[in-house]
Amino acid sequence: MSDMESRSGGRGRGKDDKDKDKDKAGRRGGGGGFFRRRRVCKFCVEKIDIVSYKDVKLLTPFIPERGKIQPRRISGTCAKHQRALQTAIKRARQLALIPYVTD
Ligand SMILES: [Zn+2]
Repeated sequence: MSDMESRSGGRGRGKDDKDKDKDKAGRRGGGGGFFRRRRVCKFCVEKIDIVSYKDVKLLTPFIPERGKIQPRRISGTCAKHQRALQTAIKRARQLALIPYVTD
């Protein structure tokens, strides 16, 4: 994005101002240190082979606000356990243990 900065010499259109505003708004700090960068699968660490759909407490951390399943990139869960987790979550949803959509 350094290209944009060097380019903004002339004031051509209102677009520039808009972009600046956006940049300001989007730059809310606060992010640091919230999520640990451990890339270790929680289930592997705790040696949980079978992810039970009844264990809601285990599943809920992987379902952020919107009711979606957290992607592996973020949660760090390995492929094997992510799959098990997805199945468990889907089952739990059918049993209404977990909401499909939260708002
Ligand atoms: Zn794992």
